[in-house]
Amino acid sequence: MNLYSLLKKTCQTKCNVNLKSLCSIKIGGIGRYVCYPNSAKQLKKLLFVLNQIKKQYYIIGNGTNVIFNDGIRDFVLVCTKRINKLYIKQNQVCVYCGLGLFSLNTQLQKHGLGGLEWSYGIPGSMGGATIMNAGAFEHDISQFVKNVLVLTTSGKYKMFLVKNLNYGYRTSILKNSNMVVIKTTLSLYKQDNKVIKTNQEQYMLKRKQCQPYDMPSCGSIFFKTVEGSAGKTIDKLGLKGVKLGGVQISTKHANFFVNVNVKNASSEDMHSLIDLAKNMAKKQGIILNEEVIFI
Ligand SMILES: Cc1cc2nc3c(=O)[nH]c(=O)nc-3n(C[C@H](O)[C@H](O)[C@H](O)COP(=O)(O)OP(=O)(O)OC[C@H]3O[C@@H](n4cnc5c(N)ncnc54)[C@H](O)[C@@H]3O)c2cc1C
Repeated sequence: MNLYSLLKKTCQTKCNVNLKSLCSIKIGGIGRYVCYPNSAKQLKKLLFVLNQIKKQYYIIGNGTNVIFNDGIRDFVLVCTKRINKLYIKQNQVCVYCGLGLFSLNTQLQKHGLGGLEWSYGIPGSMGGATIMNAGAFEHDISQFVKNVLVLTTSGKYKMFLVKNLNYGYRTSILKNSNMVVIKTTLSLYKQDNKVIKTNQEQYMLKRKQCQPYDMPSCGSIFFKTVEGSAGKTIDKLGLKGVKLGGVQISTKHANFFVNVNVKNASSEDMHSLIDLAKNMAKKQGIILNEEVIFI
């Protein structure tokens, strides 16, 4: 049986997909196979098959922190978007990995559960936010996580309590572990719906004021540095507005690199612009490390 037929037996699968359509920066070549499991059960079965045949695969949620490389990519991309259920029991919310933080915030507002308003505007999924401890405005997801159910590399479910996840700035033990987040249980608090809505709108406003929110990007390119803000470092180097091929260092926020030519911007352009910023910073004794992940 060929690979496509095998994958199709486990879940919906598309062939030769334009990877631009799967990431917020709108860069990338062609993905040979993209799979869309719609339940944890389908995902488990799919990963079992892929491991058995030793086929390389990558997991993505909303693709807002990744850049796909150019050319034909002969891997299987597993998109979790359709695994997006949510259960609420009093102040505890169980969120499946593919649910977007926008939809989550809408639900929380409706049910009068506060705590996550700062995340309104982060375009990622629950799975992505859980592994990399997404955060903003002095908050991060680890402050609200109770436990996380993952699928281990041996294909078994395992529950982690938050204290065992070693959460830190944009990191956790789940990052680079090849474990797949299935669902995250959050502990929130009762809050008036109107207060939640106001908070969400204020956070969104702040975001729009200081970030190029209306342009294709992948959020912050670099982690904070020992010295502080990577954006300020890049700004001080005089790089704001610098363009290479189809990508540009945003004139609004120097840690956001935006796609100014969706048709032609390439991952090569992005690599080159990142290298430029890193090399110039290094000459000033500052090390910039990428937050964005190339696939
Ligand atoms: C305009 C904009 C603003 C942003 N603002 C912020 C911000 O304020 N704070 C912040 O922290 N981030 C921000 N981001 C970055 C991004 O939205 C977050 O990092 C988000 O958590 C990534 O989620 P995702 O689903 O898009 O992950 P993806 O980009 O799809 O994947 C990112 C990584 O997570 C892994 N992954 C995804 N799902 C799973 C899973 N279920 N199990 C295991 N691994 C998984 C992938 O393999 C990959 O390594 C911003 C991005 C944009 C475009």
